Amino acid sequence: MNDKKIFPALIANEAIKNLCGKDILRSHISHAYIIDGPDGSGKHTAAKQIAMAILCENKGKSSAPCPCGVCPSCKKAAAGFSTCIEYVNRGSAATLQVETIRKMLSAVSYLPEDGDHKIYIIEDAHKMTTAAQNALLLTLEEPPSHAVFILLTSDSGALLETVRSRALVLKTELLSVHSILSALTSMVDMGKIPDVGTEKMKTAASASSGCLGRAVEFCTASEDSGSMKLRSIGEKLTDTLLFASAAEAIMYCRSVDLKRPEYETVFYYAMAFLRDYIAVKSGADETIVSIDTDKCKQTAERLALPRLYRTYELLRAAEEDITKRNASPLVVLCTLAANATK
Ligand SMILES: [Zn+2]
Repeated sequence: MNDKKIFPALIANEAIKNLCGKDILRSHISHAYIIDGPDGSGKHTAAKQIAMAILCENKGKSSAPCPCGVCPSCKKAAAGFSTCIEYVNRGSAATLQVETIRKMLSAVSYLPEDGDHKIYIIEDAHKMTTAAQNALLLTLEEPPSHAVFILLTSDSGALLETVRSRALVLKTELLSVHSILSALTSMVDMGKIPDVGTEKMKTAASASSGCLGRAVEFCTASEDSGSMKLRSIGEKLTDTLLFASAAEAIMYCRSVDLKRPEYETVFYYAMAFLRDYIAVKSGADETIVSIDTDKCKQTAERLALPRLYRTYELLRAAEEDITKRNASPLVVLCTLAANATK
């Protein structure tokens, strides 16, 4: 079977297609899947494709994509009307409580009306309380043959090891800025998102840090989101640390004035730009946040790898000082500027 026909709505993510899609085609269905990745990286799309593929009535036909998208089951699932797929989430609560999981499990032994599987998609699974995870675990240990649980998480480390060990863990893949740009372009062509112009699409692709969902959000937001501003501060911070003199770098760092939670995002982007430099210097052809790969390569040429690694480590330590140790951002940034330009 042509790989393109497995999970056709999911862009890239060959590992997920290979690990899980081919198993489903052979009717080797796991009772639990964990899909781990940052928000906007395709976890929901992957989960829906897995659910549709398990339920697809044309699963055994070698000529049909998986899921086929045209059988009654696929059509119902695509339209959100399938009784075989149930979404479970925490609503507006901070955590996913044991009561919610117990309610889901209370009906788990019943067969669905119109299918041979019932799929439960648990959103923000890392927000499950320990009691909720333990309740789920009891069912994962002896699941009814028709039940499949798909846990979506941006932090699979927050799940109990006993839960993780009973599931097939799939990680969504960050896409290159060029893959995101081409995905956005085809979405514009299909009329799925408005045409916001090439420049805005490029910036959205870059600011999304490899997550198509975020890029779509940036494109459809009515005005430039705060992330764009924080992304450019992150880029400027990286370039200042790499190319400015100590005095210039300290002056720049003194001028950065943000709310405390915004520093985390700035450091995220600063480190992402550094990772791009390190990646292209190590032979990669694709970048995650740098729009102009050639310019990124030229810049990276001027720098030695050890310097890039050292700057990355300094940024990471500074980020932890601000976000985890509550240190003064001004002091941390000025110390960072002095150390990085030494
Ligand atoms: Zn189908």
